[in-house]
Amino acid sequence: MNFHIITIFPEVVQPYLSTGVIGRGIIKKKIAVSVYNPRDYTKNKHKKVDDIPYGGGPGMIMAVDPIVLAVKKVQQKIARRKIKGKIKIIMTSPGGKEFSNTYADKIIKNKYTDIIIICGRYEGIDARVKKIFKAEDISIGNYVLTGGELPAMVMLDVIARRVPDVLGNMSSIEESRVSSHEMYTRPEVYECGGKKYRVPKVLLSGHHKNIEEWKRGSKK
Ligand code: SAH
Repeated sequence: MNFHIITIFPEVVQPYLSTGVIGRGIIKKKIAVSVYNPRDYTKNKHKKVDDIPYGGGPGMIMAVDPIVLAVKKVQQKIARRKIKGKIKIIMTSPGGKEFSNTYADKIIKNKYTDIIIICGRYEGIDARVKKIFKAEDISIGNYVLTGGELPAMVMLDVIARRVPDVLGNMSSIEESRVSSHEMYTRPEVYECGGKKYRVPKVLLSGHHKNIEEWKRGSKK
């Protein structure tokens, strides 16, 4: 699966992409991530990507043209590939449909080859971008961030770990095992502030059925 991130702050996303499971997924070529900066597609001398809002109001709006050109560049790249692409275009937006595991699963099931994620900054993006590409507005939660880069990384992370062979061990995907949100590793007893914190006895019991039952019970 190929991800294409459109952001005026590539340096914000780069370190995340070279780390841990995602970094290894890229090295193993299970996923590929390209980053495009709308600033590289501006036609003005100052590489300005924002402008004042029609109708007034505070802040600046990301202009339509540099983003449209960046997305078109991605589309052309995909069109040149031998294998036909199936593209999903996502706009990060606090007012959009809420992102979830279910949404990520649908992306995988629908066999998209390319996910384009557009990151907003300032007050957001000129609404015509969404109309031109029939993009989907997606929010990662009921709060407002200063930019779409973190949302893009959240979505990429959740979708990528569902791509076969990205996780070393597929059984790590929650749905395919009995998982718990409460977990322990050594030491068995940890002392802090004169108090002893112990690993629940059942986990030390070796009794498979009881352990699975406990894990189900601890799942919130
Ligand atoms: N004025 C806008 C907020 C802009 S926040 C409004 O009232 O809706 C700037 C950018 O950050 C947005 O364009 C979007 O790309 C991103 N963003 C902020 N919060 C987000 C969230 N919860 N989910 C997804 N993207 C978000």
